[in-house]
Amino acid sequence: MSAEIKKIGVFTSGGDSPGMNAAIRSVVRTCAYMKIDCMGIYRGYQGMIEGDFKPMDARSVNNIINKGGTILKSARSMEFQTKEGRKKAYDQLQAAGIDALVVIGGDGSFTGALIFNKEYNVPIIGIPGTIDNDIFGTTYTLGFDTALNTVVDVIDKIRDTASSHNRLFFIEVMGRDVGHIALNAGVGAGAEEILIPEENLGLERLLESLKRSKESGKSSSIVVVAEGDKTGKNVFELKEYVEEHLPIYDCRVSVLGHMQRGGSPSCFDRVLASRMGVKAVEALLEGKSSLMVGIQDNKITLTPISKAIKGHTKIDKELMRVSDIMTI
Ligand code: ATP
Repeated sequence: MSAEIKKIGVFTSGGDSPGMNAAIRSVVRTCAYMKIDCMGIYRGYQGMIEGDFKPMDARSVNNIINKGGTILKSARSMEFQTKEGRKKAYDQLQAAGIDALVVIGGDGSFTGALIFNKEYNVPIIGIPGTIDNDIFGTTYTLGFDTALNTVVDVIDKIRDTASSHNRLFFIEVMGRDVGHIALNAGVGAGAEEILIPEENLGLERLLESLKRSKESGKSSSIVVVAEGDKTGKNVFELKEYVEEHLPIYDCRVSVLGHMQRGGSPSCFDRVLASRMGVKAVEALLEGKSSLMVGIQDNKITLTPISKAIKGHTKIDKELMRVSDIMTI
């Protein structure tokens, strides 16, 4: 164990995701187990700048493993992106005796962590918390599995009404730059088409596919569209385009929005968060820094944050093939 680290600060930053509370709980309890102090930092980097800290012990995190959101709150801080802001944050950490950090967030939060570490040499370990699953160095980010379950649940419900009225539904799901939610939830919910940013299906092929689908006797159709899809049309324009070119369809749109970020975390996310929190604290105590905890081949791994930020996740081509076969 590193002799220097006596108090670890933990915070959540950027967009919240289900499983963040389970990760906070894991970090706090691992600190207690290792007999070192733990400080909760509220509202991400902004709370760090303002010294919004609260000591946490094993009992401070009772009954939060099942809760969505983050008890430490999250924030986006413009001030932390300035040298002056980061100096204030460092001074607050010094005053509170915090000598290492665990940041739970996305790539923006990790970028801030890396810059801060370079300037002030405060050891930092990252835990990837985002529903988009768009972070290199981990097969799964915290919240992704829960978001998939939420989306599949909603699509199942929409399918009930779609098939009762023979309708075609365009369902927009989250994913600005990546289609992991759309592809996985689309396959899980039996969508007829899945539009993702990584693959431009093209409007012609979409029309052909929908036509085939109707001719093959399907009574309803679901098209899952990632918000960052590159067909050049948003989900409402897509609906109008299809209605215009395929009047056989009665189309509707449903934009799922922020509900995808909420809710009680799935068992998978709770277990993942527990494993990641333990690894984050252990890594700090072993003298490591600027690494992100991930899961690869069901093993908990560490990847340099610099790589995690720069690398890009790849869409699962095999799953795309499965999707094509399933929509025969
Ligand atoms: P999500 O993927 O859900 O959006 P995120 O962690 O990427 O999560 P961001 O809003 O991009 O969310 O970043 C969170 C915070 O990290 C910012 O509000 C800012 O305080 C800090 N941050 C981001 N980029 C930088 C940077 N270049 N320098 C310093 N701090 C940064």
